[in-house]
Amino acid sequence: MNDNPSALAPVIVLGGGLASISFAGGLRSAGFQGGITVVADEHESAYDRPPLSKDFLRDGDAEKIRLDLSHAPGVEWLRGVAAQRVDTQAHEVHLADGRCLHYGTLVFATGASPRVLPALQGAPMPVLTLRTLGDAQRIRSGLQPGARLLVIGGGVIGLELAATARALGVEVTLVEFLPRLMSRGASATLASFVARHHAEQGVDLRFGRSVTGFSRSHIVLDDGSQIAADLVVVGIGVTANDALAHAADIACDDGIFVDGRGRTTCPNVYAIGDVTRQRNPVSGRFERIETWSNAQNQGMAVARAMLDPAAPPYGDLPWYWSEQYALRIQVAGLTNGDDEIVRGDIAAGDQFTLIHLLRGQIVGASCVNNVRDFTALKRIITSGARPDRAALADPDTDLRKLIARTSSQAA
Ligand SMILES: Cc1cc2nc3c(=O)[nH]c(=O)nc-3n(C[C@H](O)[C@H](O)[C@H](O)COP(=O)(O)OP(=O)(O)OC[C@H]3O[C@@H](n4cnc5c(N)ncnc54)[C@H](O)[C@@H]3O)c2cc1C
Repeated sequence: MNDNPSALAPVIVLGGGLASISFAGGLRSAGFQGGITVVADEHESAYDRPPLSKDFLRDGDAEKIRLDLSHAPGVEWLRGVAAQRVDTQAHEVHLADGRCLHYGTLVFATGASPRVLPALQGAPMPVLTLRTLGDAQRIRSGLQPGARLLVIGGGVIGLELAATARALGVEVTLVEFLPRLMSRGASATLASFVARHHAEQGVDLRFGRSVTGFSRSHIVLDDGSQIAADLVVVGIGVTANDALAHAADIACDDGIFVDGRGRTTCPNVYAIGDVTRQRNPVSGRFERIETWSNAQNQGMAVARAMLDPAAPPYGDLPWYWSEQYALRIQVAGLTNGDDEIVRGDIAAGDQFTLIHLLRGQIVGASCVNNVRDFTALKRIITSGARPDRAALADPDTDLRKLIARTSSQAA
């Protein structure tokens, strides 16, 4: 254990999302009794973001998505106020309302913000992004049966919104600049399956097109075509909220660089969650890992590492899930290998698994409605095992048993 945990105090956390709560809870469950203050620019009590593109758009129940703060007791919450400047020499955080807080330890958990499309500034219909509860409430009010929704961007959030909107009887067009969907987080095989599914559900997909402007009730694309829309939602990715860290000379590049203990390049300053740029244990590259599981687990691991120098560094396998129609998609590790094994019949149904390989090594997995395979494959990827290819490809092989066999052979 850290010889003097009270030297960490007071701990100031900037941002009140999942990573922040998980971190504060991690400190408390490891026995830290010093002061913890969370500075959160949102007025809302903390909430979970994944439902914002799924259940919340259907039921509008904000209470259902509140995060449980009970495992982080004794935390002082300053809500509705942004941190404006950090002075790492004086160990101070200056807030937008003029207050100044002294810190022993500072943690950036400031997340990320959606990119916007300047070409749509001044458009006559609402042009929104989807990150906050307020965004979701505004979008929800436009999702009336028969309304025309234009989604710009074929990433996970845009696709989930498209799926939910179709279920609500909304007409949906989706414009993607690239020739395929989910280019950042899915293999071409999974992306084309997802595209086919959306097309079958009535989404009008336009690939290889970008938005150039608007007319009275239409959005204009670069080929001159016009799309009538009552509501436009832009889902073209996010940028890290790292401006304060950057201004304080902490190393950033669209994300604050951290090591496996959450340490930044400045002493006593840490970062967790979407705002970080960390080493991806599979690719070996420094990347932003914008997933729920990363916010949750990195937050907790950094708290443990702060209190216990012997705690292992964080290096969880990155993974995410997505829900679109009746598809539960789960993706782990890397999806851009040089080879792919297909388990199941993609053309025949809506349950299959893709195993991604790079130079013969299993580096990733994508499962559609196949939770059991996913759990086993995460273990296989992490262990570095190389099970027999024919056994992997056979959908009748129980992957859990295959792991046990492979590990006993290796022993
Ligand atoms: C609509 C949606 C759906 C998603 N669905 C999934 C999914 O299905 N599966 C999955 O794995 N992941 C999903 N995610 C991603 C996941 O929710 C995020 O990775 C996770 O919430 C990140 O948590 P965080 O605490 O790092 O950041 P955030 O939740 O963004 O929290 C950061 C907080 O800091 C605040 N802040 C920023 N700057 C300041 C400042 N200067 N002062 C004070 N406060 C500040 C922000 O306003 C924000 O409230 C989804 C995300 C969204 C938006």
